[in-house]
Amino acid sequence: MSLQVDSAATPEPKPGVLDISAYVPGSSGKAVAGRLFKLSSNETPLGASPKAIEAFRAAADHLQHYPDGAATALREAIGAKYGLNPARIVCGAGSDELIGLLCHAYLSPGDETLYSQHGFLMYKIATLASGGRPVVAPERGLTADVDAILAMVSERTRIVFLANPNNPTGTYLPYEEVQRLHAGLPGRVLLVIDAAYAEYVRRNDYSAGIDLVANARNVVMLRTFSKIHGLAALRLGWAYCPEAVADVLNRVRGPFNVSHPAMVAGIAALQDAAFTEAAVAHNERWLPWLSDRLAGLGLTVTPSVGNFILVGFPDADGRRAADADAFLISRGIYVRRMEAYGLASCLRITVGTEEANRLVVDTLAEFLGRTDG
Ligand SMILES: *Cc1c(COP(=O)(O)O)cnc(C)c1O
Repeated sequence: MSLQVDSAATPEPKPGVLDISAYVPGSSGKAVAGRLFKLSSNETPLGASPKAIEAFRAAADHLQHYPDGAATALREAIGAKYGLNPARIVCGAGSDELIGLLCHAYLSPGDETLYSQHGFLMYKIATLASGGRPVVAPERGLTADVDAILAMVSERTRIVFLANPNNPTGTYLPYEEVQRLHAGLPGRVLLVIDAAYAEYVRRNDYSAGIDLVANARNVVMLRTFSKIHGLAALRLGWAYCPEAVADVLNRVRGPFNVSHPAMVAGIAALQDAAFTEAAVAHNERWLPWLSDRLAGLGLTVTPSVGNFILVGFPDADGRRAADADAFLISRGIYVRRMEAYGLASCLRITVGTEEANRLVVDTLAEFLGRTDG
């Protein structure tokens, strides 16, 4: 038997892969007159805890060793901090990896994932990469709509993703609504609550969903070290899961998917409660300040419970938002364009240092003054 050689053929990825628009990260930008303010990726302006940095540096002496593939010390530290069973925690190289692994493990070709209209982009990318079909439920007032999501559950739905609070809108569902969503889902559907910004939320009716995971067999909560803990560069996230889901994730993940420097830095960051509190306090001061000032400029501010604000410019086609973005860039300020989310007339602005926040407001005031005049 001989293989026929077809020199015109090229390797083709599986269906779905070429439907993916690759994720475009927030710009790191170029300094203008020595100044650069990156408000494009919801990073904390306070950096990482000095204790986490110290732990990371100490890890440099042992780079020849493989990390602990079970991430035991990190899972125990997370368990101790939140009162969770470490056996039900799975760590990943950022929660992005865990989103991908969940799709990889639970979707067969043609299976559906379901999320809301302006839900985090990775849900779509991970779904298509796994050969699944993304299904989008409409929102109400830029907020996930439980009834709309439940109405779109089909025989093929395997995963419902809910970012709570959601990025890029900054809106959230009260815990009662999350419980109602869960109660309306068939047991075979996995509800994935992505609580990347949970630490920032200051609302009595909010919960990241730990109790729901503890008491249900089909709920997973995702958390990350990239946001309030300031460790985005190290790629570290975790999932709190039912035992059966943890077992599945442990089968499909890479055996050393989390690096040792990331683990030790993560443990130190978790244990530095004072540093985390300072980051929350900073946001509590500047989120309302920035929201009020931007609204005062006549921009549409979607009330946010995260560390970022979705700001609408008064035209539908996105020209003003694009012009405002260009003007900000000319001053060394980088925020996030929202075309990829179908929100072309909006920009998403991360809460920054006091200096950055004041500069954003002054610069946008100048922009609007020029273009209105
Ligand atoms: C930033 C973010 C993540 C996490 O990212 P990792 O850096 O991969 O942990 C997950 N979900 C949402 C909604 C986010 O905004």
